[in-house]
This record gives sequence, C-alpha cells and structure tokens, in this order.
Amino acid sequence: MAAIGLERICKSFGGTRVLRDVTLAIRDGEFLTLVGPSGCGKSTLLRIIAGLERQDSGSVTIGQRRVDGVRPSERGVAMVFQSYALYPHLTVARNIATPLEMQRLTLLERLPLLRLLSPRRRRIMRGIMAEVEAVAAALQLEGLLGRKPAELSGGQRQRVALGRAMVRRPDAFLMDEPLSNLDAKLRVHMRGELADLHRRLGATFVYVTHDQTEAMTMSDRVALMLEGRIEQLGTPAELYDAPRTLAVASFIGSPP
Ligand code: ADP
Ligand code: MG
Repeated sequence: MAAIGLERICKSFGGTRVLRDVTLAIRDGEFLTLVGPSGCGKSTLLRIIAGLERQDSGSVTIGQRRVDGVRPSERGVAMVFQSYALYPHLTVARNIATPLEMQRLTLLERLPLLRLLSPRRRRIMRGIMAEVEAVAAALQLEGLLGRKPAELSGGQRQRVALGRAMVRRPDAFLMDEPLSNLDAKLRVHMRGELADLHRRLGATFVYVTHDQTEAMTMSDRVALMLEGRIEQLGTPAELYDAPRTLAVASFIGSPP
C-alpha cells in the first residue's frame, strides 16, 4: 500500500494549461476516483503519478519517497489502460508473466534460441508461472491461461490486463478508464469485480473515469476535476449531498 501525494502540480502542452496547481493527498489503501468531463486533465494527472509524463512544476510523493525523476518501473505503481495493450501472439499466461520476465531474466535468456538451452531460465520461469497461476486464480482466469487474447471476451481481456498489473505486486494501481471499451452490462459487472479486488488486495487504487455513476458507486473518495483543477474532493455522499458549486452539482446530477 502507498499513500500518494500531489503538491501543486502544473502542466501545459504547447502553451495550453492542462493542470493548474493540483494538490491532492491520496490515502494508503483507498479507492480514489478522478472524475470529470473529457479533456479536464485526468489522464495527464494519472500519467504524471505513473512517471509517464513529467510535470512542469510541483512534486509527486509515493509512500515516503519523492519520485520526481524516478523511472515508471521504479515507482511501485502499475498502470491499467482502457486499451488493454496485450501481446496478440502470446498466451494469457505469458501476457501476465511478461513484466516478471523483464525483471528477472537477462536479455540473452529472453532470446528465442537461448531460452531453450538455459537451465537457469527454466528454473526462473517455473517460479514466475507459479505466481502467474496465483494471480490467474484470483481473477478467475485459470482455465484460460493457454489461450491467445483474440480467443477471449472483452471482460476476460480486461482481467488479463489487470493480472499483468497485479503480478508485479504494486503498492498502487493506476487505472485509466479501464472499463470504457466494454459493453454496458459487462461494465456494471466489472465495477463490482474491481471493488471486490480492491477489498481483497488492500492496495491503493487511483481510478480515472468520465462516468459519474462509476465514480459514485465504486469509490471511497472522489476528486471531481474541471478544467485542470480539482473542483471538489470528498466521499460520493458528500459530493452528492453537498456540492460546493453549481458545476459540481450539474456534473454529479444532484437535485437542485
Ligand atoms: P482527460 O483524460 O480528462 O480526457 P487529458 O489529460 O487526456 O484529459 O487531456 C487534457 C488536455 O490536454 C486535453 O486538452 C488534451 O488534448 C491535452 N493533451 C493531453 N496530452 C497531450 C499531449 N501529449 N500533447 C498535447 N496535448 C495534450
Ligand atoms: Mg483520459
């Protein structure tokens, strides 16, 4: 688990200010959702936490550590995207295993020819596959480990993408609209699964969506973003019952 601190984050793209002085303290183990209309800066903020984008000013803390300048793979967070970005030619098992293979195998051991010959590689891969199986069991993917992504449903693919994040045992999961490619019925189902997964893992979840229903049903707290700022931060009930501005009320759909 990791608390995540954002301190006065500013970001512009080509003279357009996208994030305006964003300060936010995300608690250890909470499910925090960044919600807001398209273009308000949610993905940019998440990418800055992940280290995929660099802020112009301000600082990011993960756990006890200032991570400005720390590489994405060293931050202890894992990102789950809406486009699952699975490798089409690899099985489900290998798709989930990939981050561990990158960590633990040498470049030579990852080459097709040499990997057949190396006993060290075989030993490491056995360990990795045991971890993959544990993750697959947690996500109910056990029977699908030998399939290719094209042989899976959208929901199953999304679970594989989650598995690939989980296998690294990150302290925090960063999810950018992970359900938006699913049909409506499956989306509702997966909301429940994600909330459940959050309870079981006890990890910090930072979840991005433009869908206020999703935000209101899944989150411990919601940060509503408008035009690069956090307009209001609170529990779903607080935002619904006591919207601080008209803009919050109209986005959340509170009664006037
Ligand atoms: P959201 O995820 O809330 O829809 P984004 O963070 O993706 O919003 O984008 C916020 C604004 O920043 C948008 O106007 C978008 O066009 C712009 N933007 C995002 N990334 C880039 C980029 N790499 N280059 C230029 N403009 C960008
Ligand atoms: Mg986005």
